[in-house]
Amino acid sequence: MNIDILNRIFNEIECAKKILIVSHVNPDGDTLGTMCALKLYIGDKADTLVQTSASAGIPDTYKFLPEINLSKNLDNVENIYDLVIAVDVASIDRIVQKARVIFDNAKTTINIDHHKTNNGYGKLNWVIGDASSAGEVLYNIFKTKNIPVTKDMAECLYVSILTDTGGFRYENTKPETLETAAQLIKLGADNSDLAKKCYNNKPKNMILFQSEIISKTQFLFDDKVAIASITQKDYDKFDAKNEYTEGIAETLRTIKSVEVSAVLKENDNGCTKVSLRSDNIDVCEIVKKFNGGGHIRAAGCTIKKPLKIAEELLVCEIEKCLNL
Ligand code: 5GP
Ligand code: MN
Repeated sequence: MNIDILNRIFNEIECAKKILIVSHVNPDGDTLGTMCALKLYIGDKADTLVQTSASAGIPDTYKFLPEINLSKNLDNVENIYDLVIAVDVASIDRIVQKARVIFDNAKTTINIDHHKTNNGYGKLNWVIGDASSAGEVLYNIFKTKNIPVTKDMAECLYVSILTDTGGFRYENTKPETLETAAQLIKLGADNSDLAKKCYNNKPKNMILFQSEIISKTQFLFDDKVAIASITQKDYDKFDAKNEYTEGIAETLRTIKSVEVSAVLKENDNGCTKVSLRSDNIDVCEIVKKFNGGGHIRAAGCTIKKPLKIAEELLVCEIEKCLNL
């Protein structure tokens, strides 16, 4: 741990007059929990940006996070900040449109993350590739700097760790992860209440939408590969939000024979967003062929082709990595 970089990060936070904390696009529990915990520490001079349009809004599941209601979206964020801090943002292309302009124009940028594929796109970078989540990274920063973690901050950080470890089931759950979670519970995070809010709080239409998508899944290579493709029509039929796709790839991975599960989403700009999951294959290697990134068992990319062509290109790359 390079304490000098950490000190410079805190010096920048102290000196900055106007700070923007940025989530990644299609925000999840980790990016939002980390963003809110950092906002609670910095206070009024920090704005938070949830990278969605006003119409998409904050994902319903995470609306309970402390102070998330104060956050801005891509339609109403201000133009100029002297410090921008990206949290859980694996690569610069996960900061989009207007947010990218703000990032590029800021005097200083800080990148706090846990993706091994992160190339250090910030002026100051704090990337811990072994950590379960950006929330765990931030908790350790607070601990190193002796910053008190309030109950609200503990709840945010707990949500980060809980969701990025799939409820402490994935192999990124290390002894230190569980120790951190235990400390957060001692600091006031209500673990069973937070698990309920994150996992047992879904709208009916989300489950109906997911069951239709799952029922149309294609199984290839002796059921080793599951490909679920989602068209704009599917979204329309269930009035589904983008966040309704969360968990489909994980559900398909629970099938015994499945080594790689893939969810492909048709974007309205002719591109296809891909999510890959596995229990035993390095799916990050697969998405790197399409300039994506992430973790070995959970990775994603955008293929700049329509859905059907993207499916073919992806299946071809997955086949090369299978234990056939
Ligand atoms: P998800 O499939 O849930 O969108 O993402 C799984 C993991 O892959 C996350 O850690 C996420 O940050 C990363 N990821 C998803 N899409 C992309 C992408 O287009 N580029 C990069 N670099 N990482 C991605
Ligand atoms: Mn994360």
